[in-house]
Amino acid sequence: MVIAEDVEKILSYGEICDHCLGRFFGKLSHGLSNDERGKALRIAHCLHENIPYAPPGPCWICGDIFSRVGEWADRVIEATEGIEYGSFIIGTRVPPVIAESEEIIWSDLSLSHAEPLKSEMNREVGKAVARKWGKVADPKQPDIVAILNLAEDCVEIQIRSLFIYGRYRKLERGIPQTHWFCRACQGKGCEKCNYTGKQYQDSVEELIGRPIIRLFSAGNAILHGSGREDIDARMVGTGRPFVMEVVAPRIRTADLALVQHEINQAAAGRVEVTLERWSTHKEVEIIKSTKGYKKYRILVEIDGLYSPDELQSAIQSLKGAKVNQRTPIRVAHRRADRVRERRVLDISVVGKDSGRVILEITGEAGLYIKELVSGDQGRTEPSLSGLLGRSARVCSLDVVEVQGYEEGE
Ligand SMILES: [Zn+2]
Ligand SMILES: [Zn+2]
Repeated sequence: MVIAEDVEKILSYGEICDHCLGRFFGKLSHGLSNDERGKALRIAHCLHENIPYAPPGPCWICGDIFSRVGEWADRVIEATEGIEYGSFIIGTRVPPVIAESEEIIWSDLSLSHAEPLKSEMNREVGKAVARKWGKVADPKQPDIVAILNLAEDCVEIQIRSLFIYGRYRKLERGIPQTHWFCRACQGKGCEKCNYTGKQYQDSVEELIGRPIIRLFSAGNAILHGSGREDIDARMVGTGRPFVMEVVAPRIRTADLALVQHEINQAAAGRVEVTLERWSTHKEVEIIKSTKGYKKYRILVEIDGLYSPDELQSAIQSLKGAKVNQRTPIRVAHRRADRVRERRVLDISVVGKDSGRVILEITGEAGLYIKELVSGDQGRTEPSLSGLLGRSARVCSLDVVEVQGYEEGE
């Protein structure tokens, strides 16, 4: 029979352990482990050849790695000490010399039913960890991935990120959404940035992230916002939706109400968050690609004298208008220069403040509000300034509402 011939040929390469022998036929029979199958094949070979049975010497393929499965399981458990996890998966980095040895026999004998060493190692160490530690091996949603690095003889642990969905309000101007590297040193640290490497001391990301890093004993916290406001704009009203990615958390369970309280306490009124629920990696993509409307409240200064009727008529022509905006001068250095069309969904005068006008504007995502008012030297058309025939500029800007994607179109 063909299997007996294959076994004889495999044994002729050198001493081989039952695991490696059985694995060459790994996909042929179920209900047997590789070493059980290997031992049975070895015994059958001895009976067939009428030679005495003897256990094999050191394996030329794996160096008897499977005798150390329990030891590797202990090392996984040791490496995960202090990390909270419910499920895990084992991965194995197999040294090229082992993989090549296997592959030589696969191709010499044209074997198509062999299992690679990597998958037996993953499964056997996985079973041992589950048995010893009472955790669940879960290939779909593992809290941690433990990589057995056979060449370096060590275990590497990767911890799956956590995601939290919430909304933030930015109540102070001058805070960027995410951290900016110092323009002079690109983050290395220099005299200009007081060796912080940062252009601004704080960001919304860091104000929310610092307590999160502490509470989850995490490696980092990355803010994924549904769009962003300018540094000098406040984000008020119902707040901007975001997903916070908690990177490499050693703690996975937390009361979000408590986390929210800690963030708001630490941010001391500069930023305020509502943490609504746990989220997923998938939602990061959704939230970043969402293009909902935004509502702003702005304070506008208009040069020269104008009548209330003139202002009202300019406002009326902007209501519902399609605005052509060439990339604003102030962002032209980092965005492609082109003309975009965005709609003004709504605009109205809501008050006055020492000679200046307070407007509320609802615009499509991507509408540049400062340029809608100033005209940006003719690059935005129509504009409030153009319609009035006078210079007009935004003195301060607040975002009062960002449409969340749940209610999105
Ligand atoms: Zn072996
Ligand atoms: Zn610097």
